[in-house]
Amino acid sequence: MTSPFEYAPAPESRNLVSIRSSYGLFIGGEFVSPRDGRTFKTVDPSTEEVLSEVSEAGSKDVDLAVAAARQAYDTTWARMKPATRGKYLYRIARLLQERSRELAVLESIDNGKPIRESRDVDLPLVAAHFFYYAGWADKLDHAGFGPNPQPLGVAGQVIPWNFPLLMLAWKIAPALACGNTVVIKPAETTPLSALHFAEILQQADLPPGVVNILTGAGETGRLLVTHDGIDKVAFTGSTEVGKEIARSVAGTNKKVTLELGGKAANVVFEDAALDEAVEGIVEGIFFNQGHVCCAGSRLLVQESIADDLMVRLKRRLGTLRVGDPLDKNTDVGAINSSAQLAKIRELSEIGDREGAERWSPECELPDRGYWFPPTVFTGVTQAHRIAREEIFGPVLSVLTFRTPDEAVEKANNTPFGLSAGVWTEKGSRILWMAQRLRAGVVWANTFNKFDPTSPFGGYKESGYGREGGRHGLEAYLDV
Ligand code: NDP
Repeated sequence: MTSPFEYAPAPESRNLVSIRSSYGLFIGGEFVSPRDGRTFKTVDPSTEEVLSEVSEAGSKDVDLAVAAARQAYDTTWARMKPATRGKYLYRIARLLQERSRELAVLESIDNGKPIRESRDVDLPLVAAHFFYYAGWADKLDHAGFGPNPQPLGVAGQVIPWNFPLLMLAWKIAPALACGNTVVIKPAETTPLSALHFAEILQQADLPPGVVNILTGAGETGRLLVTHDGIDKVAFTGSTEVGKEIARSVAGTNKKVTLELGGKAANVVFEDAALDEAVEGIVEGIFFNQGHVCCAGSRLLVQESIADDLMVRLKRRLGTLRVGDPLDKNTDVGAINSSAQLAKIRELSEIGDREGAERWSPECELPDRGYWFPPTVFTGVTQAHRIAREEIFGPVLSVLTFRTPDEAVEKANNTPFGLSAGVWTEKGSRILWMAQRLRAGVVWANTFNKFDPTSPFGGYKESGYGREGGRHGLEAYLDV
């Protein structure tokens, strides 16, 4: 079904951001050329247009960045009055707000996510994280980790491409609030917002070396997390790389937090408000093109309402607008990279071969760029790979259940345990489910809601450690 009426294009202006033709590495408070001179290109995934040439940090660059972070830790940051550290974080938060329109456009161009999301979700949360942790900087004595808790030292942080600036904020804000210094590596396909964030650090007059930003690919990440000069590793990304990192730091004194993949169940009971549940299902799996570690990628629906819910869901999906990420009407943007598109296609074809039934609304996809339509698979069983593996794209697998016990069993039948959703009108059932679901976050009658005050993290192969809230401080304190 197509939209009842067409919307005129409402593009946000690209001119709000000025992208340089090339960028250096941000080490010791300034942009420097990489020591071994390698570079790579970052593209706009909605057009495949090259946006900029970015430096690829090699081992000498990692040495320099870690040394800069160590010096800043020893001479400035860890010695600074906590309230003064807080002032810097407040300043960064305000600058992020001031430049949020520019950064939202940049994020949508480099990542492919709709401007509606980068403008209304990513950027407000980025600033909120800095504001929140700024408040903690001089209150660590009261955080519940004993009197005068101490920082760890230099944190090596590696982040993915799905929420480039938000993941940076999740990592940097608590680290700095606790008195650590940072070397961070953004993902290869989305380096630009981190580089513009470096300009904000210069604007904020942050002492040199407190934050160092190394662009590069997986090898740069590996060099960073295995570097002897760091005290703490914080990683968000795939379970596979998370396991490799856990192995590489085993036996060292490095403290580690890993935020890895997910295959969340979004469980809809027959007494749920169905139209609201449909909105939550859409928010759960089509937000950010499904490139969300806690995406509600498995819909578990009570058998008695399955047919009704599917009719409503398909009707709603027919109204989603897929296309230009900078158009303010767009609901679903571009897939972040050709590699991710290939992975989504491959797993969807496996779904076809394993006998699930594929459905997508009619939608015209642009000729250039990386695109995948919103997709629903019905007739999925727990044995299907599309019910077990993280697709990390706009693909929903639908399973049914009859009893609450069966819902719990199916929801927990996964190697992951990052998030879950429950839709029912009964508060008692929400609590009953929340006690039994093995997931770090359980949303009730909503999905994919984030807040800096709330801890986030996984069970099982979704990783360990918590980010956000008071809990998020623990990862950056010697406690
Ligand atoms: P990765 O885990 O490879 O990437 C995450 C980050 O780690 C990136 O910055 C990456 O660099 C870096 N990295 C890669 N290899 C290493 C290494 N050996 N040591 C240290 N750092 C490393 O995820 P992908 O981008 O390859 O995505 C693959 C799949 O992972 C997705 O399809 C999705 O299923 C899942 N994923 C889950 C995420 C989550 O939030 N849970 C986020 C992203 C992906 P670079 O980007 O340059 O390769």
